[in-house]
Amino acid sequence: MKAEFIAVGTELLLGEITDTNGAFISRELARVGVDIYYRSVVGDNRERLLEVLDAALHRADVVILSGGLGPTNDDITKQTVSSYFGLTLEENPEAMANLASYFSSRGRQMPEVNRIQACFPKEAEILKNNNGTAPGMFLQRDGKYVFLLPGPPREFEPMVKESVLPRLSSVTGTQLFTYTVHTFGISESALYEKLRDLIDTQDNPTIALYAEPGQVRIRLAAKAADDGEAKAIFLPTEKEINRRVGKYIYGFGEDLTLSEAVVQKLIEKKLKVATAESCTGGLIGKMITDVPGSSAVYNIGYVTYSNAAKNVELSVSKTTLEKYGAVSQQVAEEMAYHLKKKTKAHIAVVSTGIAGPDGGTAEKPVGLVYVAVATHDGVKVEKLNLSGNRDRVRTLAAKHALWMVLSEARAYISE
Ligand code: ATP
Ligand code: MG
Repeated sequence: MKAEFIAVGTELLLGEITDTNGAFISRELARVGVDIYYRSVVGDNRERLLEVLDAALHRADVVILSGGLGPTNDDITKQTVSSYFGLTLEENPEAMANLASYFSSRGRQMPEVNRIQACFPKEAEILKNNNGTAPGMFLQRDGKYVFLLPGPPREFEPMVKESVLPRLSSVTGTQLFTYTVHTFGISESALYEKLRDLIDTQDNPTIALYAEPGQVRIRLAAKAADDGEAKAIFLPTEKEINRRVGKYIYGFGEDLTLSEAVVQKLIEKKLKVATAESCTGGLIGKMITDVPGSSAVYNIGYVTYSNAAKNVELSVSKTTLEKYGAVSQQVAEEMAYHLKKKTKAHIAVVSTGIAGPDGGTAEKPVGLVYVAVATHDGVKVEKLNLSGNRDRVRTLAAKHALWMVLSEARAYISE
């Protein structure tokens, strides 16, 4: 099923206001499996409106118009569309009663010009507007569906959901379902390389990539009649994605954050994590405690920013600090080792690095970060060379630390 949208209003054409209704309708129609190939904007002009309406009705099964349903002289959409189909407007008693009560409930007298808003062709169905005075209109003519909706988004948007989508999805019998695969530690372009053939050739489900710092979401979208059918459509693609890039996947489901995946896994495995942070300054702890229920897995975190604190709180030896510097593999290792010992957490995670903008040298540039984890199995360190501003370096370092915790938690086998 194909649809077109026509935004009516001279102020839209002049760029005085932006056609947000168009973007909204495109997103919503996709959900019910209706394709939209054209969107037009036309001024409050009878001839030109007739022209775009005629073109739209030749190209599409459904035409949705917004704007120009008000009571003033420049509001001509209803009159123009009705006359296109050779229909005349008549006062509708029910619409008139609604309109009158809209005004009286606000303690206002109904202006005479508003009367037109209660006039409809008798062949049309009147669509209720709970947020304004202009009802919408639905017309089925020559196998086509035509919807007229008011322009203000706070009236238009609910009416799309209440009046348009249900009528269309009952005809198409399809809805759009989405499913998200969350990855960490692989760039959008590297992911694209690995999934290219799937992304370029598939149309049900479609696959799209959305990048955020350190993470890329793989969003699958399928047209299906119901949830069960959607799952069946997703499954083979999900399996194939898992086969190709499974080691970068931290979870599935609409809005799952890396922290949520970590906390869930720690709860599932009954593990505790402890943190000691230098360059991330508490960000790892913050990300963990962003998740409700994290108290089950997190008792304590240290921010050991200075060398002295690393020595006093975490027993990192002065010799190691002097010999290798605070930002070094050796210091990260010692921090993790002693943190685990001190807190008795199953997994201890630490960070030390140079977040910038100053403090970098040729040997230790800005963005150099060591993150380490300690478990009963020993200590693992990763050296990261991150790019971007201070905020980004710290965020990426913290996420990386969480990612290491997740890997350890997944692999964790009790002593
Ligand atoms: P009213 O009864 O308020 O006059 P109407 O149906 O006649 O409603 P218009 O007069 O065309 O609609 O537009 C009213 C207001 O709604 C505009 O000034 C604008 O703020 C907003 N609007 C109209 N069309 C759009 C659109 N396509 N996208 C976003 N906003 C719009
Ligand atoms: Mg108007």
